[in-house]
Amino acid sequence: MDEKITELQQDLTDYEHIVFLTGAGVSTPSGIPDYRSKGGLYSGHSNPEYLLSHDNLSEHPDSFYRFVMDNMFYPAAEPNIIHRKMAAITNEKGWIITQNVDGLDSKAGAKHLIEFHGNLYDLFCQQCQRKFTYQEYAKSYIHASDGGIIRPRIVLYNESINLDKLSQSAAILSEADLIVLVGTSFRVYPFAQLLNYRNALAKIWVINREPIGEDAELNSIIADATDIFNQI
Ligand SMILES: [Zn+2]
Repeated sequence: MDEKITELQQDLTDYEHIVFLTGAGVSTPSGIPDYRSKGGLYSGHSNPEYLLSHDNLSEHPDSFYRFVMDNMFYPAAEPNIIHRKMAAITNEKGWIITQNVDGLDSKAGAKHLIEFHGNLYDLFCQQCQRKFTYQEYAKSYIHASDGGIIRPRIVLYNESINLDKLSQSAAILSEADLIVLVGTSFRVYPFAQLLNYRNALAKIWVINREPIGEDAELNSIIADATDIFNQI
């Protein structure tokens, strides 16, 4: 384990185009529950994919609003050591492509950042496109002056991914010489397909609490990412 951490540390120093692909495991140390994991966001909800769907937002905006306010918004959450170190590395020589919608990479100062599924705090009225703050949204999801529904700009179930973000992510991955997967089981499509765009010569590291595959190309550290980032 220690040898692997030393090798990872050396790679982060030596390689010049580093891309971090990240998921919920990066934000759980900041107190944000993991999607899909036991005890996480979806447990206790009979049909969470519906609650977080475009259909629910359209047909039952009140149900959608209560679900996201109760389960997804953590406005007091702060970036942790993982967000901060990734931001420092990628501001110098790389990118972060995250599935997370919590805005913590941005809060950590990451400038080369693709929020693949959007950002919860990017709130707008569907009627007039005006932007709203979280504080305004916390009071009401209805824009008083036109009756429009205010929503976060995140990708919901039955909505398609932003194609500009997909093509930008593909281009970034094709140029990366080092790819580090952190805190993601890498099961959510199309995010999980991003690796297909990588340069064949790129080295890949995985830092996750559980193995994500049998792929011999992957250098895995099965551990809590916080422990690893505290050491590098
Ligand atoms: Zn409006």
